[in-house]
Amino acid sequence: MTNLTHLTIRAALDGLEKKDFTATELVDAHIAAAEAARGLNCFITETFDAAREQAKAADERYAKGEALPLDGIPVAMKDLFCTEGVQTTAASKILEGFKPPYESTVSGQMKRDGAITLGKANLDEFAMGSSNGTSAFGGVVNPWKRKGDNRDLVPGGSSGGSAAAVAARIAMGATGTDTGGSIRQPAAFCGITGIKPTYGRCSRFGVIAFASSLDQPGPFGRTAEDCALLLKSMAGYDAKDSTSVNAPVPDYAASIGQSVKGLKVGVPKEYRVEGTNEEIIALWDKGVEMLKDAGAEIVDVSLPHTKYALQTYYVIAPAECSSNLARYDGVRFGLRVEGDNLIDTYENTRAQGFGAEVRRRILIGTYVLSAGYYDAYYNQARRVRKLIWQDFIDAYKQCDVLLTPTAPTPAFAIGENLQDPVTMYLNDIFTIPASMAGMPGMSLPVGLSADGLPLGLQLIGQPFAEETLFKAASALEKAANFTDLPQTLMGKAA
Ligand code: GLN
Repeated sequence: MTNLTHLTIRAALDGLEKKDFTATELVDAHIAAAEAARGLNCFITETFDAAREQAKAADERYAKGEALPLDGIPVAMKDLFCTEGVQTTAASKILEGFKPPYESTVSGQMKRDGAITLGKANLDEFAMGSSNGTSAFGGVVNPWKRKGDNRDLVPGGSSGGSAAAVAARIAMGATGTDTGGSIRQPAAFCGITGIKPTYGRCSRFGVIAFASSLDQPGPFGRTAEDCALLLKSMAGYDAKDSTSVNAPVPDYAASIGQSVKGLKVGVPKEYRVEGTNEEIIALWDKGVEMLKDAGAEIVDVSLPHTKYALQTYYVIAPAECSSNLARYDGVRFGLRVEGDNLIDTYENTRAQGFGAEVRRRILIGTYVLSAGYYDAYYNQARRVRKLIWQDFIDAYKQCDVLLTPTAPTPAFAIGENLQDPVTMYLNDIFTIPASMAGMPGMSLPVGLSADGLPLGLQLIGQPFAEETLFKAASALEKAANFTDLPQTLMGKAA
């Protein structure tokens, strides 16, 4: 029989429809893969029993010819999405044991469409990080390794558990959230595809907030088409999220395989930043050639305020986080460490509940929002943010999409960049501008580094033009023909 864990979502849906295998077999195969790969630490909470029950229900629907759009597809759910009655931690001690009494809109929509959650995927604490190293439940291990080097590598972050699970063939797809790169960078590090849709495309209701004006849910898959199928289910207007946009959700999968003839692809010169790995620059040039060969027109564009994006992000994101995380006070959620009086209880709870990175961001955020500095930092950052957005709008007068690298380096070893927060922050240099501007961005694997690690390229699109991204991604995917598997899976393919 085919190796079920190596199928794409599209192939699995076809196989289920044709009764080549059952949803129970599909889910069991993935649970077995998850159990065999527990060393990767992809899940904070496993929900295998519930998954088996849901698989049975999916099989009944297939038998009756009433299958749902994603019926029986096993997925990993980032542990930032509230799931009713199932522990949701944001990878923080402060929320350990918290079982939300409600379901996030995105996870609810996926359930409605028949997707089956295998577990709550590990992440950086409150989604703050680029390596998964800040999780209170231990870091995630990337299933890829450098050639001839057995050291464990990071999967990227913050949605590292989701990305590693999809790369390791534990889940067929996964949810992530992206505030400054948390879908795109782990997708690149793990050799899979991920899309951060336009801000407002997927509801943030029930997604534990980090920086509300930047947070955006999106899917991971092993192909652009699988991401398209997942996004169709995740996206849509939600009255419970005031920033959700009321626009129809197109059939994204219909864009797959469409010609890119005449598509104008912009190459921003400011993304040739110093310190970027040379192999990544070479791959970027190759990607440009691939799209050109497929019929696209290449245009040089300029995004002059790119150089301020990172600094601006590290004012705005901590500012919003410091206010969002004020709610964790030991009174309503999770951890409570008693003190002599109320203030003491707040302080004890927050000091013991939050990890170092979260505390650092709360401090920075509180500082930039304080009376004396609000104008100098926060308001100034908001003005610069507008200029970054304007750069994209101007560039889109000349092109339809942009092509850039996703991250300046391939996956690094666990612990390598943790000591120096600034080096870690630099990892998001290519993903943050699109986040600041609310533009959709997608990363897909295009090649391998000399030492055998996946490298990704990023496509950035116009607001709500995810269809164009899928079209360009599928052309690039076809040309790149990335079929390599993580070393830990070699020889296990179908
Ligand atoms: N790495 C970035 C940060 O730590 C982005 C994280 C994210 O997108 N959630 O803020």
